[in-house]
Amino acid sequence: MKQYSLLILSIFVCACSINIDTSSREKSSDIKNEKKNWDADKPKTTKLPNDVRWVTNSSEYQLLCEQTYYNAWNNLSTTLKTADSQTAIVMDLDETVLDNSKYQIGLVKKNQSYNPESWSLWVNLKEAELVPGAKQFIDSVRTTNVRIIFLSNRMAKNELPTMENMKTLNIYETDDIFMLRIDKPDKKHIRRSEIINGTGRISEIGPLKVLAYFGDARHDFPDPDNNYIFGQNMFMLPNPMYGKW
Ligand SMILES: [Mg+2]
Repeated sequence: MKQYSLLILSIFVCACSINIDTSSREKSSDIKNEKKNWDADKPKTTKLPNDVRWVTNSSEYQLLCEQTYYNAWNNLSTTLKTADSQTAIVMDLDETVLDNSKYQIGLVKKNQSYNPESWSLWVNLKEAELVPGAKQFIDSVRTTNVRIIFLSNRMAKNELPTMENMKTLNIYETDDIFMLRIDKPDKKHIRRSEIINGTGRISEIGPLKVLAYFGDARHDFPDPDNNYIFGQNMFMLPNPMYGKW
């Protein structure tokens, strides 16, 4: 009888272990299926290229911009504080004052390259952010008589959304001069010449002495000479994302 009971017990234990084994196998396959489903639902994460990652994620980019604006104020503050109202600093907007890296991220995700239509849509979204250090510098300039001229290749038809974006970022003043691009021939050097000579868009204000230039591209600056020197009164911001290289 004892032997019979032992036999029943061993059969029971064996059956249980088979059951446990099957159920654990089922569980593992359920997890696999669940993971498969989860992976399918997970939005595809696109790895950003190095240039965009550097601008959006690195402390080096942030420090370099802040360093440039910090050095600019250190170099210029004495001149700016004693300057009269017929003086100006000329600043480019994109990647100099306004950070459009979100537009670049959008292009990567959509597997697109720059095009004027998507760019204009982006400008109208008014979601550009601040280049590090730009606001502090602009705020400091506003304590002086020097006017700020934003000379940008954003199209003139997008002046209003540009101003609204800048209002949101607290860098807009009614005294500022906006010289956006009217058409293709309206190159930056033409607008710089209007500023210096008090012609065209600046005729009502009269000639302005430019005390400094800021940009992220070579075409944002006049040719260096004895009066205009990089690092002294012309300041280049880093932009690895686009340019005419
Ligand atoms: Mg620019």
